[in-house]
Amino acid sequence: MSESKIENVVILGTGPAGLTAAIYTARANLNPLIISGEQPGGQLTITTEVENFPGFPEGVQGPELMEHFKKQATRFGTRFVDGNIKSVDLSKRPFTLTSADGMTIKTQTLIISTGASAKWIGIEAEKRMMGKGVSACATCDGFFFRKLDVAIVGGGDTAMEEATFLTRFANTVTVIHRRDTLRASKIMQEKAMKNPKIKFIWDTEVLDVIGDKAVEALRLRNLKTGEVTQFKAEGLFIAIGHEPNTQLFRGQLETNEAGYLKVEAGTSKTKIPGVFAAGDVADPVYRQAITAAGTGCMAAIDAERYLEDLGSH
Ligand code: NAP
Repeated sequence: MSESKIENVVILGTGPAGLTAAIYTARANLNPLIISGEQPGGQLTITTEVENFPGFPEGVQGPELMEHFKKQATRFGTRFVDGNIKSVDLSKRPFTLTSADGMTIKTQTLIISTGASAKWIGIEAEKRMMGKGVSACATCDGFFFRKLDVAIVGGGDTAMEEATFLTRFANTVTVIHRRDTLRASKIMQEKAMKNPKIKFIWDTEVLDVIGDKAVEALRLRNLKTGEVTQFKAEGLFIAIGHEPNTQLFRGQLETNEAGYLKVEAGTSKTKIPGVFAAGDVADPVYRQAITAAGTGCMAAIDAERYLEDLGSH
């Protein structure tokens, strides 16, 4: 890569979407350049065992799965650059990206797979106990809480959906919400409230997690009375929403009200020809590794066809 060279394809983000786009574009001889981003390997690198990714009947550790993706992308000649892009200019062609350390990259096509980040409540225990009973993904980790008593923080649709999902495994699921009314849609609220395994603690925040190797209890504070109590729980799920990593593109690409990139239905195309989006950055609904990989493949094929139409490849 040099400052004067114009890349065929630059991919932002190295989660399942970005690395799948890299595998496909590399195999199409497009010599892709991929920028690792804030969290190399994406959200799977902060989870433990992945049991629902097809092709791994015995399950696979999240970080190991991402290593496999990376090896496969490398095998076909993907070039990797560590670090972050701090600004993009999509108003002129080729598109220009500037990295945090001042490097400029010009490219004909851009695949955005910068993902989304789970929001955390911001207590130290979340980091300390992540993978030891604290999780921000019930779909990924719920299975490990069979017959246990777990708690979930949040009052929106995600919290209701995940609480309901967790009742398949857990003995009880206690929703801890900071107010006394839920933000979730009526239908999801009713479903959760009707479920005999789901209980609610209102007007309460989690102050700390008690336990060393596993979650044993939570320290809670009632926000109305100030009373601090201990609550027995063997797992803590945080379900207060996700933040799509789209800050770089604000004002240049269309987003929905939650900030997710908009793409033309059934494609990875954004409103700017040559700019494609894949994975969680454009997916507020499914957010699975397999769907991210699938849309990464779509973006690669869309980019390849776009370049073909330009006659530049
Ligand atoms: P959300 O609607 O923004 O709700 C977030 C919840 O977390 C709120 O109840 C909020 O409390 C709470 N919260 C936020 N920050 C917190 C903090 N620091 N500490 C404690 N609690 C905190 O997010 P979401 O539930 O992820 O939903 C996002 C969007 O996706 C929504 O439009 C939703 O309808 C949609 N969605 C739909 C489905 C479905 O239809 N199947 C499933 C999931 C999500 P407050 O209420 O006090 O603000």
